[in-house]
Amino acid sequence: MAIKLRLVLLAAALIPQAITYGMAFGSPLAADKYFGQIQAASAAGALLLALTSPGLVLEWMVGRPLREMARFCAQLKQGSYQERLPLFNEARDGDGEDGLTALMRDMNWMARQIDIREKGLRKAVDDLAESRRLIAEKNENLTLVNRELAAIHASLEERTRELEQSCRQMQVMAMTDPLTAIANRRCFFEALKGRSADLACNRLCCPTSLLILDIDRFKTVNDTYGHAAGDRVLQEIAVIIGENTREGDTAARIGGEEYALLLPGASSRQAGDVACRIRTAVAGHTFVLPDDQQISVTVSIGICTFSQFACLERDKLYSFADQALYHAKRSGRNGISVYDPEARSLSMIDCA
Ligand code: GH3
Ligand code: MG
Ligand code: MG
Repeated sequence: MAIKLRLVLLAAALIPQAITYGMAFGSPLAADKYFGQIQAASAAGALLLALTSPGLVLEWMVGRPLREMARFCAQLKQGSYQERLPLFNEARDGDGEDGLTALMRDMNWMARQIDIREKGLRKAVDDLAESRRLIAEKNENLTLVNRELAAIHASLEERTRELEQSCRQMQVMAMTDPLTAIANRRCFFEALKGRSADLACNRLCCPTSLLILDIDRFKTVNDTYGHAAGDRVLQEIAVIIGENTREGDTAARIGGEEYALLLPGASSRQAGDVACRIRTAVAGHTFVLPDDQQISVTVSIGICTFSQFACLERDKLYSFADQALYHAKRSGRNGISVYDPEARSLSMIDCA
């Protein structure tokens, strides 16, 4: 290209000169020494111009834009997408432009696109970081809430345990005689209606016995030795009764100095044996009172046994045993009376 340009420039400079020389040929002008010198200087100038100007033009048209493009690419490589190649009219479209200018315009367009995407990406990265920060913050809050909930849960569990324990204690208290720590009247009648009696109810051939026990002349104990002494006697008799029961029996204090003993599965003879053991144990026991005095007391016992216990007859069982107790009292106390539900008769037992 540079050679062609040189030839064109050389031709453009020499042809007018040749024409001028041709026209002046043969005339006195041609013989003029200055004309010859001017022609020679002009030819030398044209030659010089043809040799140097293509390089300058090429430098201006190609070299400079290429350097700009190289610098532009280096900027892009370093991540600087705001740079643009200098174009005469950036806004116009590229129709009819030379290849280099079109290439520069395209490179500017690519840089703009990269810049837009880079900004979009930066924004997405920033949004993501912000989202992460918010999630971490919420996570932290959730951890705190979780910790608080765990503490509340633990204290609720503790409270529930305490309440359950209180409830159990209240249930026990509701069924226990506070003085003797054996079952109370309520517990006894529940047992009579409930589980132990049901055992007998369901197995009709199974007998059920009931003992009612009353301390003889207990009022005198209270009157003579004081209420605390009477309490001591009540407690120790409860222990003696407990020592003569087995699993499944229910021993209870059902009144002031009155006890009851439900023996599911016990025959009349077995109930009599239990009553004898208790009567003998009480009579043989020395009660040491709070003031260290020692006394003895006796008990009277009434027994009734249903050999085929029907649940509907609970009240009768209690009533017959009670009748037997008062029979024992009337018979002189410190004795055991049995009510026979079949014969409908009362008789005293001889323990010996
Ligand atoms: P009986 O042989 O006929 O049964 O005569 P008793 O004196 O044992 O019978 P009574 O019903 O006349 O007297 C019962 C006494 O029991 C009267 C009351 O002061 C006493 N008592 C009732 N409950 C308690 C108690 O919890 N503690 C004490 N210490 N005494 C009680
Ligand atoms: Mg009494
Ligand atoms: Mg009594």
